[in-house]
Amino acid sequence: MPAFPRLLAPLDLGFTSLRNRFVMGAMHTRLETLDRPNERLAAFYGRRAQGEAGLILTGGYAPNPDGIFEPGGPLLCDAGQLAEHRAITAAVHQAGSKIAMQIVHTGRYAKIEGCVAPSGKRARINPVTPRVLGTDEVWTTIRDFAHTAMLAREGGYDGVEIMGSEGYLINQFTAPFTNQRTDEFGGSFENRIRFALEVIKAVRQAVGADFIIIYRISAVDLVDGGMNGEEVAALARRVEQAGANIINTGIGWHESVVPTMAAPVPRAAWAFAIRNVKNAVGIPVIASNRINTPEGAEALLESGVADMVSMARPMLADPDFARKTRLGRPQDINTCIACNQACLDRIFTERTATCLVNPRAGREIEFSDQPASQPKRIAVVGGGPAGMAFAINASERGHKVTLFEAAAALGGQLNLAKLVPGKNEFNEMLRYFKTRLAALQVDQRLGHAPTAAQLVDGGYDEIIVATGVRPRIPGFPGVDHPKVMSYIDVLSGRKRPGPRVAIIGAGGIGFDVAEFLVGERKESESPERFMQVWAVDTSLATPGGLLAHGGQGEPPAREVTMLQRKDESLGKRLGKSTGWILKAKLKRAGVRMVQGATYDAVDEQGLHFTEGGQRKLLAVDSVILCAGQESERSLYDELMARGAKVRLVGGADVAAELDALRAIDQATRLAVAL
Ligand code: NAP
Ligand code: SF4
Repeated sequence: MPAFPRLLAPLDLGFTSLRNRFVMGAMHTRLETLDRPNERLAAFYGRRAQGEAGLILTGGYAPNPDGIFEPGGPLLCDAGQLAEHRAITAAVHQAGSKIAMQIVHTGRYAKIEGCVAPSGKRARINPVTPRVLGTDEVWTTIRDFAHTAMLAREGGYDGVEIMGSEGYLINQFTAPFTNQRTDEFGGSFENRIRFALEVIKAVRQAVGADFIIIYRISAVDLVDGGMNGEEVAALARRVEQAGANIINTGIGWHESVVPTMAAPVPRAAWAFAIRNVKNAVGIPVIASNRINTPEGAEALLESGVADMVSMARPMLADPDFARKTRLGRPQDINTCIACNQACLDRIFTERTATCLVNPRAGREIEFSDQPASQPKRIAVVGGGPAGMAFAINASERGHKVTLFEAAAALGGQLNLAKLVPGKNEFNEMLRYFKTRLAALQVDQRLGHAPTAAQLVDGGYDEIIVATGVRPRIPGFPGVDHPKVMSYIDVLSGRKRPGPRVAIIGAGGIGFDVAEFLVGERKESESPERFMQVWAVDTSLATPGGLLAHGGQGEPPAREVTMLQRKDESLGKRLGKSTGWILKAKLKRAGVRMVQGATYDAVDEQGLHFTEGGQRKLLAVDSVILCAGQESERSLYDELMARGAKVRLVGGADVAAELDALRAIDQATRLAVAL
């Protein structure tokens, strides 16, 4: 019997079947804005089909110009556009998977002038106030959904997913919060769900019986004035009766003030809301959000929460997720660490999606994975993300790599990141790197820092310096006072700060350290604590599934003040999809934030600084330096002085705002080019 019998079981839908229970969830990638978009999209989805995803859902296409995400966003309402879709569906079918196109009308989330909605209430996350749809226009929109579904069928898709969650138009109709209409589409529950049901019925009529219709339901709205659990279950039953074959689940709206998929959300935290849908219907239900391992996915199916699992980000991270599961090699999966840095954060800032742990995602046509024409002997110095990524990719192409790491263990800065509670997904990244290095039999020299002379004498064809970064030590008086410590001292547990703390620097690491010190990171330890902190009603009795208390954490463990020199609000440059979570938690813990500071000195009294021209004293027990990084290049400089052929990657190359995303991308591209 296979290790994951439920995940690997085919699903028979009568007129068609899926080869397993893995669904690649829909994700807006903006790939259509890059060069060679058709080829790119076909390669992106085709690669996931080669990795044996049972069913692939495309990013959303609007059924009419009012429903697009933004100017130029995906839209399918004209048969003239079908060539691009046929390229996608052919690539997926050739590899043995099924594919459904998502149809999404964004309603009041559309970033376009004159966006439309059931009522005129503006969304918190969109500056544009919507125009109210007339009753006739609602019926026209229903016909537009049906027309687009029919085109999808002509384009070779096996089905469509009707997007009824995340706060998009259909969801705006179902929730009283955004639907104050007085016609047949507003008021009573029956009227509010009419739009959703009429869309399903019209689509079914347009596409016939032998075409998959998936309806994505909002299993819990997580907005005040959303639906309660009873209404969600009743809607699910009616969706089944209206003709859907499968129900997918969505969690929260884009404007919810509860994190739904970032790393602090415990794995499979939303099972209670998905089970509510599953218990209501007889058709298959798909679980989604924070499922990133085969073990966790199998457990959800085994416990009867759902029949299939949706993974969008995990299949960005590893297109072979399903295939590796079938082969019984879960340890080889490049796990999504729920950082959102290269996918959602880039999408929310008008860029295209890729993946921090897999730079090939969405860039399949840019990477040639041909074996090297001339295998080389390569020394890599530094076993952090850049060094490991280079070593793996170069070895995969046939180069003979020796990887040197001065510390006793591989990982570099990842070993610090994983110590921050709530960031333990970084352990998965390390596990993946180490498993690959071992499988490729890369010669690993741990606890070994070669000198420039040894490297030059070693006769290597290439020397790659990935020696990373060292913390920046600012130059103010008293920086060597015993009160002062680095973030490395704190996160590694070498030093324990006192009860009153000042943090110098408010980048990603400053925020991480602040959370660590106030004890706010513990909520990811258990779903129960997470729900309490974020005021989620797991009984689903309240509208939108939110409790009135608004969130209850434990009293902060320390009194923390964060400072920066820039005169802008702290945390402004953090990731769009995660920065607000960090800021909300620190606000709740009473963390004070000071911008525009000049550091004068540290002494027995504490931190002396100037703010707005006034000298001030912060009476603290500890001052923690989170003042960014500087490149560690001494080895590189020595090698250059000896005239060696040497290349820099990662933080050793550019330390400013260093992150693993840039380090891995740069190292991978270099390895593929050599
Ligand atoms: P960073 O983001 O570059 O922030 C460095 C901080 O130090 C800034 O607040 C800067 O503010 C301050 N600073 C710079 N030079 C200084 C000096 N000479 N004296 C005093 N203060 C100084 O670096 P980081 O916080 O070390 O983070 C490194 C990278 O890790 C980030 O770019 C991020 O991508 C990644 N990361 C991200 C997250 C996340 O998004 N959740 C978490 C952890 C790490 P002023 O110049 O205004 O004083
Ligand atoms: Fe997952 Fe981060 Fe990759 Fe997004 S960028 S798919 S969250 S690992």
